[in-house]
Amino acid sequence: MRPSDLVIVDMEGKRVAGTRRVSSEILMHLLIYRLRPDVHGIVHAHPPIATGFAASGLDLNRPLVCEVVVGLGSIPLARYGTPGTPELSDALEPLIPHHDAILMANHGVVTYGPSLESAYMKMETVEHFAKIALVTHVLGNAQPLGEKEVEKLNEVRHRYKNSDLSRKPVAADDLASNGEPKETAGSRR
Ligand SMILES: [Zn+2]
Repeated sequence: MRPSDLVIVDMEGKRVAGTRRVSSEILMHLLIYRLRPDVHGIVHAHPPIATGFAASGLDLNRPLVCEVVVGLGSIPLARYGTPGTPELSDALEPLIPHHDAILMANHGVVTYGPSLESAYMKMETVEHFAKIALVTHVLGNAQPLGEKEVEKLNEVRHRYKNSDLSRKPVAADDLASNGEPKETAGSRR
């Protein structure tokens, strides 16, 4: 991609500069900018491991790695919606205010932050964490952090970013014996 490939649009998605067509996923980008005035950069991609989770109906909400809990909180899964339609926006809308990274079922991942660089780094973190979650699953002995530990990390996160404490992942204490969260509404299909 070169700078000449870039397209500039207004908040209605109308092209104001550039020669290429506006992305079919523009609705998703505009929705995030509307709901999150703090956001100035969005990255959407289809990284293979995280998208594999999204195509398996799995979120990345388990607190397996302390740095991910501090950096991103939890990474929920939005139900499938056809790209470029309000279906997809409807699936994402309730999650956008509370998360900075969202898996999109059978599609990919979207991350966002105060700058394009921060959104990009969050995308890297999601794929990195997805690899770790996959290895943890293969080894078959996942030891997610407990609620108390997650609480402590959320305090660090809060102090660090003054961010929303409701973004915490499911603690091990909340997991049923099969390893699935007891509360599955919203973030899983
Ligand atoms: Zn896409």
